[in-house]
Amino acid sequence: MEQLVNEMKMEFLANSINEGFARVAVGAFVTELNPTIDELADIKTAVSEAVTNCIIHGYEQKEGRIWIQCSIVGKQVEISITDTGKGIRDIQQAMEPLFTTKPELERSGMGFAFMEAFMDEVEVVSELWKGTCVTMRKTIGEG
Ligand code: ATP
Ligand code: MG
Repeated sequence: MEQLVNEMKMEFLANSINEGFARVAVGAFVTELNPTIDELADIKTAVSEAVTNCIIHGYEQKEGRIWIQCSIVGKQVEISITDTGKGIRDIQQAMEPLFTTKPELERSGMGFAFMEAFMDEVEVVSELWKGTCVTMRKTIGEG
C-alpha cells in the first residue's frame, strides 16, 4: 500500500460565493503532484460541480455547510465532498447524463457526467434527509 503523503480538510458555508474558493483551495492543494494545466482544470471543474450540487440540490440554496476532505497517496488524489442536505432518492438515475430534478433552474443534468469524465472514479453515497458524499479519485501524470 502506498503511503499517505498529504491530507487536508475544510468546512465552509453552502453559499455560491464559496464555489470559487473551494476549487482554488483544492487546486492549490494538488499542485504538489505537478498536474498539467488540463489535469488541474479537470479537478477544479469536478470540485465546482460537486459543490454546486450541494448548494443547489442538497440545501436548495438555504443555509448549510459543506465539508471537503482531500488526500494524496502516491500520485493519486482523493477528494470527498459532503453535505447534510436532502439526499438523493435514486443515485443511479441521478448520475445519468441529462437527468435533473431542477429543469426550472435551467440545470442541464450534466454535473455528474462531467465529474465522471474528468476524474478516474466517482462514488456517491447518499441517504434521504441525511445528506450526500461524493468521492472522486484521479491519478496525476497518466496522460
Ligand atoms: P447541472 O449540474 O448540469 O447544472 P444538475 O445539477 O441537475 O444539472 P447533476 O449535477 O448531474 O445535474 O445532478 C443530477 C441530479 O442529482 C440533480 O438534479 C439532483 O436531483 C441530484 N443531486 C446531485 N447532487 C445532489 C446533492 N448533493 N444533494 C441532493 N441531490 C443531488
Ligand atoms: Mg449539478
